[in-house]
Amino acid sequence: MKYIVVTGGVLSGIGKGIIASSTAMIIKSLGLRTTSIKIDPYLNIDAGTMSPFEHGEVFVLNDGGEVDLDLGNYERFLGNVSLGRDNNITTGKIYNLVIQKEREGKYLGKTVQVVPHISEEIQLWIDRVAHTPVDGLEGPPDVCVIELGGTVGDIESMPFIEALRQFQFRVGPENFCLMHVSLVPVLGSVGEQKTKPSQQSIKELRALGLSPDFIMCRSSQPLTVETKKKISLFCHVAPENVIGVHDVSNIYRVPLLLNEHNVPALLAKRLQFKLKVDLPTTP
Ligand code: ADP
Repeated sequence: MKYIVVTGGVLSGIGKGIIASSTAMIIKSLGLRTTSIKIDPYLNIDAGTMSPFEHGEVFVLNDGGEVDLDLGNYERFLGNVSLGRDNNITTGKIYNLVIQKEREGKYLGKTVQVVPHISEEIQLWIDRVAHTPVDGLEGPPDVCVIELGGTVGDIESMPFIEALRQFQFRVGPENFCLMHVSLVPVLGSVGEQKTKPSQQSIKELRALGLSPDFIMCRSSQPLTVETKKKISLFCHVAPENVIGVHDVSNIYRVPLLLNEHNVPALLAKRLQFKLKVDLPTTP
C-alpha cells in the first residue's frame, strides 16, 4: 500500500481537495486502484450539523455519511468509486472512539493522552480504511490519497500531523509521499511572484517532522522559471518537483496540468510503482 498525503500551507481553501482528487485520477490513469481519506480537524463528528454557508456543500455518500465536499469531488473525478463515512476522519470521531475505549477499560492503568493514544488511533483508522476497496473489486487498493484539511500550524491539526509523522516510519519512505500545497501570490505594486509564504509554511511543516516531496504552488498565473528555482533552492526540493498549479477555467483541467508537469512519472519514480501501462507522454 502506497500513501500520498496532501497538506496545505499559508491559507485555507487553497485547492488541496482538487489537487488530491487530480492526483488520484493520475494514479488511476497509471492502471492502479486508489482510495481516499479526508481528514477534517474539527470536533464535529461529521459535516451534517454544519452550516453550508460557512462550510460549503455537505456531500452525502451512498452509506448515508454526511461529509466534506472534497470526498464528493473525489467520487466525481474518479467516476467508479463509492466511498463510505469512514473515509472521512474528524477529530470528533477519533476522540469519541478513544473516550469510549477509556470508559470500557481498554487502557486500564494508563494515562490516556493525545500522544500516543489519539495519534495511534488515527494511524489505525488510516491503515484500516486505506485497505478497504471502494471500487467494487476484491482486495485492497494500491494507493490511498490522504488530504489533511486546514492549514499546517493550526492547533487543530497538530495530532494529525504527529500521527502522519509517526506513520511515515511505520510504512517506510518508499510507501509515503507528501505533497504540500502552497500559495505564490503576486503583489500588485511589485508585480513579482513572491515565494516567502511558501518558504515559511514549509519551514513550519519541517519543524513538525514532515518533509515535502512535492510542492504544489497555487498561483494566479503559471510559475516563472525563476520562481520555481527559488522555491526549489530555499525549500530543499528538486526543481522538477516544484509544480505550478495556476488558476484554470475549469477544475477538471487540473489533472491535465499535473500531467503536463510530468507528475505521473515523478510519482511513479518516487513511490516505485510497478506499472502495467506505459507512462503518458508529456508535451
Ligand atoms: P481546499 O481543499 O484547500 O479547501 P478546494 O480544493 O476545496 O480547497 O478548492 C477551493 C476552491 O478553489 C474550490 O471552489 C475549487 O473549485 C477552486 N479551485 C481549486 N483549484 C483551482 C484551480 N487550479 N483553478 C481554479 N479554481 C480552483
